[in-house]
Amino acid sequence: MIIPYDMHAHTYYSPCGRRLTAAGKPAATPALYRDEALRLGIGAICLTDHFVEDPTNPAAPQFYKGSGPAIIADLRRELATLGEADGLRFLVGCETETFSIEHVGVSPATAAQLDIVLVPTSHYHLTGVPQPEGDAPADVARHMLTMLASVVAKPWLDVLAHPLAEREALIGDLRAIYEAMDRRWLSDILGQAACAQMAVEINAASLNDEGIPHYREVLADLLPLAQSLGCKFTLGSDAHSVDMLAWPLQIEGWVRGLGLDESDFLTPDTLLARRHRV
Ligand SMILES: [Zn+2]
Ligand SMILES: [Zn+2]
Repeated sequence: MIIPYDMHAHTYYSPCGRRLTAAGKPAATPALYRDEALRLGIGAICLTDHFVEDPTNPAAPQFYKGSGPAIIADLRRELATLGEADGLRFLVGCETETFSIEHVGVSPATAAQLDIVLVPTSHYHLTGVPQPEGDAPADVARHMLTMLASVVAKPWLDVLAHPLAEREALIGDLRAIYEAMDRRWLSDILGQAACAQMAVEINAASLNDEGIPHYREVLADLLPLAQSLGCKFTLGSDAHSVDMLAWPLQIEGWVRGLGLDESDFLTPDTLLARRHRV
């Protein structure tokens, strides 16, 4: 396995993690993830439910109104009940949100209490998330870079979640958007991420998403560029149900084909070291 960690998985504490198994049972429970991870040989899972520290903030999109500190506390309690499993570590973090170029849903103080903070910048399907000025590829390209530039300036965030990913029915052909990006600006952003030790995510769900048919093609250019500028990477399933935990294993060959290997990836220990916990 190129990297035996899953750095992005949602449980049923996320509003979009409430799917059921064929038997009608919750499909994104910590217990199911534990059993599947042990079966697959995954040594650590970062549970990264959708989270903002203050859901009452008027800038918080409606999607996050139920995603406050209680879900983190409940998840931690549930993990404590589950107990330790040999060969598997759970880390507890979150996928937060960008409210504006100034504000994200997690402050430095809250980030210090979490094991990992993923920051998405292109959840354009969510009402209340900053949007491009227009539909033209150049508008979307400029907005994507503006939002990425805003988060790489916030060093308490750990990972750029699924960069440039959004359904193409909503944003248009991703190849045209990528083509329209100012290359020097993109390189500056990735260089700044490298300096801040902020990782670039390789997101299995986005790479498998039929709604983003050109994501692989675009990432096949973006990821080697990020590597050449010194960026580290994380690999995440972005699972919303336990069956998705195997998805990163299916893209390993593709990842290796881009010239990335084990040394290019963050480990759970690197994350904790960033927080002075190891
Ligand atoms: Zn996301
Ligand atoms: Zn996610």
